[in-house]
Amino acid sequence: MIDLRSDTLTRPTDSMRAAMASAEVGDDVYGEDPTVRRLEERVAELFGHEAALFTPTGSLANVLAVRSLVGVGQEVLCESSAHIARAELGAHGAFTGLTMRTWTDPRGQVALTAIEGLFAPDMGPFFVETTAISVENTHNFAGGAVLPLADLQALRSWTSDMGARVHLDGARIWNAHVATGTPLDAYGAIADVVAVCLSKGLGAPIGSLMIGSADAVAEARIWRKRLGGGMRQVGILAAAGLHALDHHVERLADDHANARLLAEACGVDPAAVDTNIVVAQRPDAAAFVAAAAEAGVRISAVGPRAVRLVTHLDVSRAEAEKAAAVLAGL
Ligand SMILES: *Cc1c(COP(=O)(O)O)cnc(C)c1O
Repeated sequence: MIDLRSDTLTRPTDSMRAAMASAEVGDDVYGEDPTVRRLEERVAELFGHEAALFTPTGSLANVLAVRSLVGVGQEVLCESSAHIARAELGAHGAFTGLTMRTWTDPRGQVALTAIEGLFAPDMGPFFVETTAISVENTHNFAGGAVLPLADLQALRSWTSDMGARVHLDGARIWNAHVATGTPLDAYGAIADVVAVCLSKGLGAPIGSLMIGSADAVAEARIWRKRLGGGMRQVGILAAAGLHALDHHVERLADDHANARLLAEACGVDPAAVDTNIVVAQRPDAAAFVAAAAEAGVRISAVGPRAVRLVTHLDVSRAEAEKAAAVLAGL
């Protein structure tokens, strides 16, 4: 089976497992795990922020990040298929007590005119107050689309004028970085808080980080514990993340090339595939997924007429070529 359902499916490599096994550890709730500290400091520096916090999931990193900008009864604006709106099971409403309003863009892009129309500054006891805008780069449900740096900078400058703040869901920011050559700190500079995942394309078995100011991260540390995410000798997992940063960033270019190959085989314009995710339209997505599985390729349906293919560390060029031949023949 060639498994193209998600880039979360990767298994740690032998050398990653060796790095994990030999990690120096301590109790991270006491702030005494040297490997976690190294990872947090390194990632904060990569994005040009003061501090970072290791979390078990990207969903928790997003909850902590967004709640640092948006309080009870306030709102965050985001694109309508954003992960925070669709795929975190209502965590932001359930835990933070915020609401969301959305704009819709088929490529998940920053639609500044729509955002200006939605934005509601404090208008007294009438309307929900907007305090933050959230953007997702790359955009998962828009097929791994990259948000151009210039658009993010324009958003940043507009929010600064309006007194609003910016959250970047950067679960796959590494893919955007490799696909465009944009430095990570340039992405860091357009947001007050960033969430990044180590467990997607980077191939770690678990782990994400919330990145921001020292104050925001100190408060997030309290909320992480409150929500049950305080972890102990977790350097064993942080070591996997450090190993991934050393060895699995630049190779994302291979995943992007494999995704373009698969796009072509599925009749999708490869030029429209920015990174490692291909979304293809099929009259009956479920039937196509079943036929692909029958032929040895696992993909997922993301709508009644849409299928999704994701390339990753555990799919070699030869496997991508084989999957492309299978899918082209269906
Ligand atoms: C995967 C993902 C997350 C976090 O997901 P977890 O499964 O909770 O780690 C957040 N945002 C985006 C865009 C994602 O794709």
